[in-house]
Amino acid sequence: MWRELRVKCQEVRAVTRTEMPYWHELTHSKFVAAANETEVAVVVVGAVEAHGNHLPLGTDVILPEYLASRVAERTRALVLPPIPFGNSWTFETFEGTVSVKPQTLISLYRDVMESVFRHGFRYIVVINGHGGNYSSLTLAAQEATNNGERVVIIVNWWRDLAEGARRSVIETYDGHAAEDETSEMMHVRPDLVEMSQAVSSRTLHRYTVVSAAYREELYPSAVYGDPRTASPEKGHTIMEQAEEELVTLINELERGQLPIRHEI
Ligand SMILES: [Zn+2]
Repeated sequence: MWRELRVKCQEVRAVTRTEMPYWHELTHSKFVAAANETEVAVVVVGAVEAHGNHLPLGTDVILPEYLASRVAERTRALVLPPIPFGNSWTFETFEGTVSVKPQTLISLYRDVMESVFRHGFRYIVVINGHGGNYSSLTLAAQEATNNGERVVIIVNWWRDLAEGARRSVIETYDGHAAEDETSEMMHVRPDLVEMSQAVSSRTLHRYTVVSAAYREELYPSAVYGDPRTASPEKGHTIMEQAEEELVTLINELERGQLPIRHEI
């Protein structure tokens, strides 16, 4: 069916770079034309969870969504609407957190990935904004790429992108709602940041301590780090480099190059 539709849509005007290639904003026939122009789809996954009293609950979806919007402007990759909820077990006791169980996430991510692949895409770039999603994404990607030459690239953007920029501007350690994330939000959505509420918090523990009963003791205020030295300039530096690296990744995928290097 897709093959026939693609032929039928030869006449349809190709999507140009001035039109934002958001998957869900295209009509059916425009989608078919746009999908003919690229092998790459971009999926944003985030979380809705407490980020201290100075950052919004949607921080982990707002930041990767911003990066995806830059990708949409600069490449032909098609950007799907974001999956806003993630596994936020750690911060479930904080008001406003909406958490989805890993079992549900694995099924959801896998189904979305398989749907995207069925439409002829070869590469899915996941811009993940939240650490709690990583294991579910990996398991979903393993299932979704079992057949054919399908590839899922999981970009844990806060640690995989802009490493050099982070090293050059961030003065404290990274964490949760810390200097880096706060700076990025000050750049992307300053209207949602309340710096007067920013507090520093760091709880040290040896080994990995897992206990529902001690979650708030491990992460008081849902903060781990020191956001007080954050600035929009630092955020700008990080986001700019992150954007460049993502655009490079997608352009390389369009040429069939995977981000794999062999060293002898
Ligand atoms: Zn976050």
